[in-house]
Amino acid sequence: MKVFTWVCDGFNRHRSGFRTISTALWLTWVCGTGLSLSLSGCDTAKGIDYDGRRILVVDMHLHPGEWDAIPEDTRKFIGSRFPFPLSLNPKTTAEGILSAEGILSELDKARVSQAVLFAVYAPRTVGIATNERVIADTATAPDRLFGLASLRIDNFRTEKDAELQRLRTALANPSMIGIKLAHAHQHFRMDDPTYFGIYQVSSDLKKPVYLHTGSSPFPGTSSEAPYTDPTYLEPAVKAYPGAIFILGHLGYDFTDQQSGSLEACIRLAKTYSNVYLEPSALGSKGSDPTGENLKTAMQKIRDAGLVDRVIYGSDGPQSPGFVKDYLSRTVTAMKASGYTADEAQSVFSGNFARVFRVAPAK
Ligand SMILES: [Zn+2]
Repeated sequence: MKVFTWVCDGFNRHRSGFRTISTALWLTWVCGTGLSLSLSGCDTAKGIDYDGRRILVVDMHLHPGEWDAIPEDTRKFIGSRFPFPLSLNPKTTAEGILSAEGILSELDKARVSQAVLFAVYAPRTVGIATNERVIADTATAPDRLFGLASLRIDNFRTEKDAELQRLRTALANPSMIGIKLAHAHQHFRMDDPTYFGIYQVSSDLKKPVYLHTGSSPFPGTSSEAPYTDPTYLEPAVKAYPGAIFILGHLGYDFTDQQSGSLEACIRLAKTYSNVYLEPSALGSKGSDPTGENLKTAMQKIRDAGLVDRVIYGSDGPQSPGFVKDYLSRTVTAMKASGYTADEAQSVFSGNFARVFRVAPAK
């Protein structure tokens, strides 16, 4: 085992120059290395079995962080979700999984090959994970970990240009492959043009924007429609066709555990080629105990012909084992709603590689 680990590490380092590449080059690279990957011995640890086929998995939604940077109410909320006895010492549990090493360990347990870490600037709700912190975390495993940069919104009226410049600076790091926003957590309306400069950055730099949609279970969030319903994003989607918008959580209503703005997400993706969908968190044990809501959502997306617009994410690490459990619940939902192995490959890694132009790890 030790030898294989070393060989894999060496191989990863060797490939680090190819992290973000053109689609054409990526296709050549993938086709050209399929055989060597299957013979290397390193790849046997990663991927899921889907109808007899091995499929690589990228989890595009993970949160690194520090316990002390999370507001107290949210710490209590997170701690209450840890299973006993981990709930007895939430700080230790959280710090064990929020570090880069902790996240990599959760990914390994789930056999996930690559993941995206989110920077967050939402001091009043979910807390802060700085761009610098995310960049440092991605550097620990450059072929496996990537980042989405974010920016402060609360001082935007006076510091707009400086914040946008900070965002551009963070995105200049090749590990930072997109932008993360959460209108409900950061308290700004989806249709407020004051903030549309963020989409201009996305368009200029060809780095997609991930947006939280739907209500949020965290204390202190804005729950009104202009902050949660992606219908309010439509003016921005139309005005910035060069920006890619990834609608997180499929507009799920986490408060009432209902489909929320799912239909709006599907309509936007059908209408605009720059809209993508991400099904994280809504199908967790806590938010969808029977798994029925995630299954229905995945079914509706498939029926709408939007399989090539779905990018998988979990919203982990949350608690030990969550990353693995969410993947397994999503596989169950997709099998129950008729996704073929080809379609599963698109959802779990193919669409991510195409949209973010990132070469797959093993
Ligand atoms: Zn999240």
